[in-house]
Amino acid sequence: MDASGKFVLPLSGIPYLAKDVFCEKGVPTTACSNLLRDKDYLPPFDSTTTKRLKAAGAISFGKANTDEFTMGASTETSCFGVTHNPWDTDRVAGGSSGGSAAAVSADECLFALGTDTGGSIRQPASFCSCTGIKVSYGRTSRFGVMSMASSLDTIGTLAKTVEDAALILQVIAGQDPLDGTTSPAPVSDYSAALLKPVKGMKVGLPKEYFIEGMNPEVEKAVREAAKVYESLGATIVDVSMPHTKYAIATYYVIVPSEVSSNMSRYDGIRYGHTVSHPENLLDYYERVRSEGFGPEVKRRIMIGTYALSAGYYDAYYRKAQKVRTLVKQDFEEAFENVDVLLSPVAPTPAFKIGAHTGDPLQMYLEDVFTCPINLSGMCGLAIPCGFSSENLPIGMQLIGPQFREDLLFQFGHAFQKETDWHGRKPGL
Ligand code: GLN
Repeated sequence: MDASGKFVLPLSGIPYLAKDVFCEKGVPTTACSNLLRDKDYLPPFDSTTTKRLKAAGAISFGKANTDEFTMGASTETSCFGVTHNPWDTDRVAGGSSGGSAAAVSADECLFALGTDTGGSIRQPASFCSCTGIKVSYGRTSRFGVMSMASSLDTIGTLAKTVEDAALILQVIAGQDPLDGTTSPAPVSDYSAALLKPVKGMKVGLPKEYFIEGMNPEVEKAVREAAKVYESLGATIVDVSMPHTKYAIATYYVIVPSEVSSNMSRYDGIRYGHTVSHPENLLDYYERVRSEGFGPEVKRRIMIGTYALSAGYYDAYYRKAQKVRTLVKQDFEEAFENVDVLLSPVAPTPAFKIGAHTGDPLQMYLEDVFTCPINLSGMCGLAIPCGFSSENLPIGMQLIGPQFREDLLFQFGHAFQKETDWHGRKPGL
């Protein structure tokens, strides 16, 4: 507070939770993995994001649950156990930022930090009825956040409203000398964007995001949302993004490849789980990693090591990178004709705990509408747009060109001024 009694810090006194992959000096940070939980890894430094939030007056008061090393779509692979959905505690909260989404939805905090590599902010936001912003690659710093797939990881937030998300992103966005992949592009004034009307603007509905087999209630809710924009004077345009169908396969080659390389630092020597009486160095590594990592992390290390190995690199990794470029071109072409795209976040509302645990492929399909945005580096905003007949939240996704988070906030806020989905509370 300054001498006149005015708050000068933009987030003064606002309590938040950080997903358990954000390093905070001296605070146990485990990625919800036994590998780091065993000895409670205490980071000797702060992530850029938590440092910026602290400087803005926000108060971090704990860590939020995540799938182990953020690999998952249900927050069921955490070594601390499953996060339950506040709207129906028999169901998952989504993942991997499920702890963040459940906490925001259940009023345990005003916002929570998350990471999004293929959908991990947007899908749990959708399952728990929160607002979640996945920024363009390079808009926020990844420094001090445990990596999963470095060319796709992004840092963002889950909040109660678009307005709150805009205020928080204003604090954490921008170039960071500690992360060479952050962009020097100036950060827009997000609060100013909230005030702009959407009249005369164009919203694209990509036909490949309304697929056979998706839940009809989800489709209906998103199409109703398009009508809200129409009523506000925007034009709805049908668009086609033909390479969408390759996105999941591409993502699940690139991500495990980068995972296999990022996970190699967890060798039990510098920090984390250790074992006693190893026979030799190889035995030490094998036991540390087989005891420390859970099945999903091991699966990705194995797939990634295979995809990157000599003889397979061209057939898998290089091919996947080429298809990634085609997916990105779909977005670039679409944004020549429309301002934003509108789609569902996930094909279904929250599923039952355990429903997909024995079937990794089914779990991977959760990312069908979200991972193309990560592959292309664009930005996406998940906001509540309805409820199913079982009273489960349904989310929609606004997708914008790189570094146009301001457009997403403009469209998102316009929607939240017209609807009250985001104001509903779970009956806990
Ligand atoms: N569900 C996706 C995966 O398992 C996304 C995870 C994420 O965005 N961190 O890779």
